[in-house]
Amino acid sequence: MTWQVFEDEVAVLADLLSVSSLLAWDMRTTMPSGAVESRGQQMATISQIARERLLSTGMRRALDAAQPVSEDQHRAMAAVREAISYHERLPAGLVRERNLLKASAQAVWAEARSKRDFSIFAPLLDRTIVLARELAEAIGYAEHPHDALLGQFEPGATGSSLAPIFDALRQSIGPLLQRVLEQPAPAPLPAGPYPLAAQQAFGRMVAERFGYDFSRGRLDPTVHPFELAMTRNDVRITARYNPNVLDVGLKATMHETGHGLYEQGIDPALTRTALNLDLLALSSMGGASLSVHESQSRLWENHVGRSRPFWMRTLPQLREAFPEALSGTEFDPFYRAFNAVRPGKIRTEADELSYDFHIMLRTDLERSLIDGTLTVRDLPAAWNEAMQRDLGIEIDNDAEGVLQDIHWSMGQFGSFCSYTIGNVLAAQVFETAEAMLGVRNGIESGDFSPLRLVLTEKIYRHGRRYHPSELIPLAAGRPLDSAPYIAYLTGKYRQLYELV
Ligand code: ZN
Repeated sequence: MTWQVFEDEVAVLADLLSVSSLLAWDMRTTMPSGAVESRGQQMATISQIARERLLSTGMRRALDAAQPVSEDQHRAMAAVREAISYHERLPAGLVRERNLLKASAQAVWAEARSKRDFSIFAPLLDRTIVLARELAEAIGYAEHPHDALLGQFEPGATGSSLAPIFDALRQSIGPLLQRVLEQPAPAPLPAGPYPLAAQQAFGRMVAERFGYDFSRGRLDPTVHPFELAMTRNDVRITARYNPNVLDVGLKATMHETGHGLYEQGIDPALTRTALNLDLLALSSMGGASLSVHESQSRLWENHVGRSRPFWMRTLPQLREAFPEALSGTEFDPFYRAFNAVRPGKIRTEADELSYDFHIMLRTDLERSLIDGTLTVRDLPAAWNEAMQRDLGIEIDNDAEGVLQDIHWSMGQFGSFCSYTIGNVLAAQVFETAEAMLGVRNGIESGDFSPLRLVLTEKIYRHGRRYHPSELIPLAAGRPLDSAPYIAYLTGKYRQLYELV
């Protein structure tokens, strides 16, 4: 009985967070633009009620009275206790000011971006960083204030623990990228037309084949693709399409399908429990951490969706779907174009070899901004210099440089490195899956069930049951290790660019 009281308290919280996610999905897909203000108010209200429920006397009494029996029950209680302690440490004034600033900073960031003028955004970014430092102090840290912010997304990770991974990537991918760029560039994919309806239908077919269950999920068009889960039975993925460029929509669909498969594969017993909620961010998203989630989207997008075995089987169907553009396309030129390495200014459009440099640049700058060794005034110059140094790219306006990502305007510092950890982990997990069940053969024959089986067993079903430091060795046999990722990139791009 006492356990039930605790479970019921958490279930109400889970429902509130699901409602909030549904409002967010609607806002980013179908909501009329005039509703922005009232939607902001609705979401702030729900979020406040959720926070109050978490910190309420009812929740504390239920926690004190509950008598856990199973390991999952112990873990669920620990998760709620940790969340209460985290939210209690944040001063109410700081939470309020961060929320208020978030709304105005995003609008000003959007204006600065459209006018390509960083100076419009700089004063608000200054204030945002002051509040991020206060947040770091409130959360607490051992070495560096940025570690406190990073820990919100990657429990247990710190700048020092990630440094060896980032160093190894710089030292190996840097020279590989240089060698690739000395080779002749492959011809691009044929210019369209790629009719939108055909792109959507093809993307849907691929998602379904990967195993995305449309009776428990949707796929809709949007401007900035994302995935949101209310519960495992209501998962929403989105993609954006360009009528003249084929791979934008397809890669986004495969990426978000990977996120969606994770959520749909969580053990039903964890639904509406603390082992399927992010109680620090107060979000209904399941999954062990941001990087573990990202490892699953990258795995399906890159290790499956950009692979030779996948396209050996799928290119004929793609030709049929887009006969006007692709009827004469041979396999090798297509595969080379789909995986072409072309460093550019924009992170979200980056190829596999340059992507992590975009992340390392942001992570380095964030740490310096948070500890005060870099000022907001000097930020654009530091950004442009790093782009020149790492990727040989000249940035000529701030919109395509320091203003391109929304994260900092939302007050979000510490989340960028999750993308690179996700890449590293995806390679480790794929290598494990290949060793267990030879999943590559399945990809070649169009049968993705062996891969899904391993991922469900090792990762999906656990939801948020395990801390990443427990889950990663369970899923990949050892802690986070950059070697499989480096070996994957080296092998693939040496072959693609015929390097000896
Ligand atoms: Zn993602």
